[in-house]
Amino acid sequence: MTTEDFRSAKNIATFYPPQRILMGPGPSDTHHRVLSAMARPTLGHLDPVFANMMEEIKDLLRYAFQTKNKMTFSVSGPGSVGMEMCFVNMIEPGDKVVVCRNGVFGSRMIENVERHGGVAVVVDDKWGEPVDPQKVEDALKQHPDAKILAFVHAETSTGVLSDAQTLCELARRYDCLTIVDTVTSLGGSPIKVDEWGIDAIYSGSQKCLSCPPGLSPVSFSERVTNLVKNRKTKVHSWFMDIGLLLGYWGSSTRTYHHTAPTNSLYALHESLVMLYEEGLERSWARHRRNHEAFKAGLATMGINYVVDEQYRLPQLNSVYIPDGVDDKAVRDRLLADYSLEIGAGLGDFAGKVWRFGLMGTSSRVENVVMCLNALETVFS
Ligand code: PLP
Repeated sequence: MTTEDFRSAKNIATFYPPQRILMGPGPSDTHHRVLSAMARPTLGHLDPVFANMMEEIKDLLRYAFQTKNKMTFSVSGPGSVGMEMCFVNMIEPGDKVVVCRNGVFGSRMIENVERHGGVAVVVDDKWGEPVDPQKVEDALKQHPDAKILAFVHAETSTGVLSDAQTLCELARRYDCLTIVDTVTSLGGSPIKVDEWGIDAIYSGSQKCLSCPPGLSPVSFSERVTNLVKNRKTKVHSWFMDIGLLLGYWGSSTRTYHHTAPTNSLYALHESLVMLYEEGLERSWARHRRNHEAFKAGLATMGINYVVDEQYRLPQLNSVYIPDGVDDKAVRDRLLADYSLEIGAGLGDFAGKVWRFGLMGTSSRVENVVMCLNALETVFS
């Protein structure tokens, strides 16, 4: 197609997105400080000034994850790449992995185990319930040869928080390493990598860190580093092999591995600076406070939560759609009239559940009040 033909067939110009309020399961609103950071001049990914900033990202991530792990950095890819990086590096063909499934992302972990040649021992819990430590212990007893325990800390498809500390203690007792998904919990709920003894952890930039999507913070214990060093087979991915990546993220003499997304990393840096300025404890408390206010408002409308109070994620409010209410019509109206995005139900919960995110910058009193008002108007 010639340029002339293309121009006359398509009328494409600069894209200007509308200003939305993002109260779905992620991405959350990006703070203007983070957006401005992204718009600063692009540096080469081996520029010494950029390399210094990468060191700060590593320090800030160690703070966010509460770890001293040397191998803590940001993967150039969304949360799913962080997930895959853990599995592809830690599994060798035939390895047994106990995987907990209580929502969509536990199922994705099983896919990862199987695609990388492992054998998944699945521990199922009902959607909307946390992982049951007793079932996990039974599986670990039954499979003493299991090498890894994998579970999702904050299941975004249901809004449930599992007890990562207890699950990691169990894994240690049965001589297993752990892979923990904290895509929705990092910054919004307490995570203590060293204290809880987590071995491999991954998250996402777009939820409680309020950074644009596309980056996945990860951290690996020394036990993982040793495991990867002593593999009998090559890691089945060039891009995700942590041994190779360390030449770029891990050493002071950085060597080319891939072209890092420099401007996105400025954004991550700024969002982590904001988290550090606020302080983890205050960020967790803010997420809880806004959840409590939102919950009180929903109660006046007779809207019920999916998850029992003690296991609820403050940053992801999963509620049953009231009887007789048209799921899509309500979501469409919120978007059209209020520029407000909320989340639909996923998988088994499609059409039955709404998911209201109060994550990162989106976790604000103004959003709570505006969303409750909007719902009341739409229902009346
Ligand atoms: N794990 C959980 C718990 C998630 O909520 C998500 C995304 O929503 C992912 C993994 C995958 O992250 P991404 O969509 O950034 O690839």
